[in-house]
Amino acid sequence: MLKIDNLNVFYGGIHALRGISINVEKGKIISLIGANGAGKSTTLRTIMGLEKSSEGKVEYEGKDITNMKTKEIVKSNLVLVPEGRRIFTNLSVRENLILGAYLRKDKKIVEDDIDWVYSLFPRLKEREWQLAGTMSGGEQQMLAVGRALMTKPKLLMMDEPSLGLAPLIVKDIFDIIKRINDEGVTVLLIEQNAKASLEISDYAYVLETGKIFMEGKGMDLLNDEEVKKAYLGT
Ligand code: ATP
Repeated sequence: MLKIDNLNVFYGGIHALRGISINVEKGKIISLIGANGAGKSTTLRTIMGLEKSSEGKVEYEGKDITNMKTKEIVKSNLVLVPEGRRIFTNLSVRENLILGAYLRKDKKIVEDDIDWVYSLFPRLKEREWQLAGTMSGGEQQMLAVGRALMTKPKLLMMDEPSLGLAPLIVKDIFDIIKRINDEGVTVLLIEQNAKASLEISDYAYVLETGKIFMEGKGMDLLNDEEVKKAYLGT
């Protein structure tokens, strides 16, 4: 579904991605793990056209989308939930969800999709009229994911969805990612919480200083001695 081949990205003199190749198969959960500064966010931002690559190719459903405009990329049903949530804090939960659908033409079924998001996140339904900025961190993260789902993505990319959340809430977020995937949405996830993300991933890539250091099935990486020592703290 998404194929990245030999991607290279520079920030001025910093060579942030040094020939990354990744394959995201339709219907799967794929994760990128790695330490701070390894290039995880840069990879997602480049896929979305927010950073320019100097070399390499990004192909989505057979179409070359390398360095295309972000707005065009979003139209092909590919969406990114950025790190740090970035919801509209002075709008209600419901208004945030409606804004998530602003690029869509089929306004009539937006209501059905709000109900779909509420079925995944009953907490958001309870808080429908609350100002988003007054909700807890976990609730705001749920809203950020819910708003992304309002675009009806085929591929949902998430940058550190569990960042700064309490362990119990982290578990909820990963359960929900699994459920969203069960409903047919392909997921590309980046996480520092390597254990939780490998547990739900079909396949994963380990990034180190802009390169793929290792890759394999989520379960195999969970049991790999090197990964255990470097990323799982065991
Ligand atoms: P983290 O887990 O800390 O978010 P990451 O794996 O997502 O890290 P990136 O944010 O992709 O890493 O950063 C990769 C490298 O590129 C880092 O060395 C970072 O300092 C550098 N970098 C990222 N954004 C910029 C920028 N806008 N200008 C200059 N350098 C940048």
